Amino acid sequence: MAVFDAYCELEGALAGTVLLDEPMARHTSFHIGGPAALFIECASIADLSRSLTVILEHGLSWTVVGKGTNLLVADAGFNGAVLTLGAEFKRFNFPEEEHEESLLVAGGGVILSNLVQSTFKSGYSGLEFAVGIPGTLGGAVYMNAGSAQEWIGAIVESVTVFQQNGGLKRYERDDLPWRYRCSGIPLGEIVLECELRVKQGNPGSIRPKMEASLKRRRRNQPLSQPNAGSIFKNPRDDVSAGGLIDKLGLKGFQVGGARVSEMHANFIVNKGSATAADVLAIIKKIRERVEEEYGYELQPEIRFIGFS
Ligand SMILES: Cc1cc2nc3c(=O)[nH]c(=O)nc-3n(C[C@H](O)[C@H](O)[C@H](O)COP(=O)(O)OP(=O)(O)OC[C@H]3O[C@@H](n4cnc5c(N)ncnc54)[C@H](O)[C@@H]3O)c2cc1C
Repeated sequence: MAVFDAYCELEGALAGTVLLDEPMARHTSFHIGGPAALFIECASIADLSRSLTVILEHGLSWTVVGKGTNLLVADAGFNGAVLTLGAEFKRFNFPEEEHEESLLVAGGGVILSNLVQSTFKSGYSGLEFAVGIPGTLGGAVYMNAGSAQEWIGAIVESVTVFQQNGGLKRYERDDLPWRYRCSGIPLGEIVLECELRVKQGNPGSIRPKMEASLKRRRRNQPLSQPNAGSIFKNPRDDVSAGGLIDKLGLKGFQVGGARVSEMHANFIVNKGSATAADVLAIIKKIRERVEEEYGYELQPEIRFIGFS
């Protein structure tokens, strides 16, 4: 209770929309996760700057989330501050003049699917590969989201981040080491804005590509049940984690309320009552079995909050 009182006292000093003891299950696509001591939606750089200053002055742990579509949050929650981006970071602009190639400027809090649709409707191509990927642009850039062949880093021109010391830093694309599901943006930096290179495209050829991709997702992914996307990274370009898990007969393997999807073996679904501990137990079992049988140490793609 004393800890809760201390957070209540902090509330007035912070800037943005501040929620105390906020269940993270409300902010993750898994619908799993205990409370964050503080959940702060920062609508502007001023909010971010003020809140981070207070958080650091009080020696609190903090992290940033987008839409929580690649996250597992501990059942005990997170004893610190979870920041997320609000209004000022949800805008995007297409260039006023039409050119063969253009820079699309978008905030880190923009919902990626809105950006994909608007890019298509504005007659540009470049983001089709991202159709069906949930979450925010900031999360996508941090994770270097994409498919096995295409990822967002390839169309990034620059990324502007907010640093813990309150400064802004601009990375050009080649300043970062973009790899499979990793941008190389240092922990503790918050993606505020990106410039993405888009080209004028032919809607007639873009639309079928996007529709085919969405159809594939509907066929192969358990979209009607809470999940966090692929749990593991593929161990090699030519070896899929899902394929290995499937070959081990682990589709349908269940612990408590969490279950390996029957549609896609690299997805774990929440059957309604899953806890983070249930998901972790499945992750542990899969890693052990894959290592025993195939010698690969599977690495999680999902990110963890609140685990020591
Ligand atoms: C059904 C489904 C399908 C999916 N398909 C794909 C796919 O095809 N390809 C793919 O790559 N991913 C896929 N994902 C995973 C996920 O959607 C992506 O990783 C997405 O980009 C995460 O965005 P987010 O805003 O939800 O980030 P979160 O899950 O909230 O956070 C993920 C990580 O990014 C960090 N982060 C978030 N925002 C910022 C920011 N502004 N600045 C710095 N760091 C930040 C967080 O700290 C965390 O480490 C899928 C997920 C689901 C549920």
